[in-house]
Amino acid sequence: MQRRTFLKNSATGTAGLVSSSVLASCGEMDKSVKALPQEMENVRPIVICTWDFHNASAKAWEVLKDGGSSLDAVEMGVKVEEADIENQTVGVGGRPDRDGKVTLDACIMDKNGNCGAVLCMQNIAHPISVARMVMEETPHVMLAGKGAEQFAMEQGFNKTDLLTEKSKKEWMEWKKTSKYQPIINIENHDTIGMLAIDKNGDLAGACTTSGMAYKLAGRVGDSPIIGAGLFVDNAVGAATATGVGEEVVRTVGSFLIVELMRQGKSPQEACEEGVKRIIEKNRNKLDFQIGFIAINKKGETGGYCIQPGFTYRTFSKAGHVNNPSDSYITS
Ligand code: ASP
Repeated sequence: MQRRTFLKNSATGTAGLVSSSVLASCGEMDKSVKALPQEMENVRPIVICTWDFHNASAKAWEVLKDGGSSLDAVEMGVKVEEADIENQTVGVGGRPDRDGKVTLDACIMDKNGNCGAVLCMQNIAHPISVARMVMEETPHVMLAGKGAEQFAMEQGFNKTDLLTEKSKKEWMEWKKTSKYQPIINIENHDTIGMLAIDKNGDLAGACTTSGMAYKLAGRVGDSPIIGAGLFVDNAVGAATATGVGEEVVRTVGSFLIVELMRQGKSPQEACEEGVKRIIEKNRNKLDFQIGFIAINKKGETGGYCIQPGFTYRTFSKAGHVNNPSDSYITS
């Protein structure tokens, strides 16, 4: 009841919407669906993801358009990239750490605020599905390293060699200089963060990555950290991030963006403010990329980044669009 009162008071201009969402989170889902405003009926379902991940968003859309849940949609969607060995930033084929080991990070969050994550996990091809199992099958939120791998094997996941010949060759080349230098907009895609609203108006999100290429062994970025790489609040909206994770962690970026939306900012305004917070802390060395995307309960979306070149995909009844993101630095 307190939560309901707080949300009602803090929402600007979306009181009806927010109170119906709160009913949803209190378990009165049927009533809340009927109470959703007409404008939302028109936009949902919708999926949005970082970068131009056409196949992943198409897969998520397939789940959503057939009435599937946002949680299934984001899991199925990002799995497409985890399985793609040509993609060297996510899942199998990802670039290794400086010791030649591919370590994967992923997290997932549902409409009820449940979440699961795996950190620095080796030898398992679909970290997002393991993260979902951590959420659904254990009393925990995060499993890391060997423990995550052991849990995955116990759940029936196969041991897979994640290092492809291509990534191995590049790593051996890199070892000649061994200079850790994150590349801006590497391959023009990177971590995949995906957010979705399903036909019931419920939000979920997923985020999965092989992390920064040639990182120190054991390094974990923002992507599997709830609040940093991903945050979902079914009463308000959701956000996710890509780019140099250390900077996103320092500002708890995705949580910040959802809170800004709660205070009345649009997804676009909230992403811009999120990026600005990072810029304020890094005025003298803006040589890295961060991109945020966000969606609110109305189905409005937004994205913003530091460097030019970031794009994000939206897929809804309105069509399938790769949106060039506005950036703080424009040339
Ligand atoms: N955010 C990811 C990390 O820091 C990497 C990326 O998106 O490029 O691990």
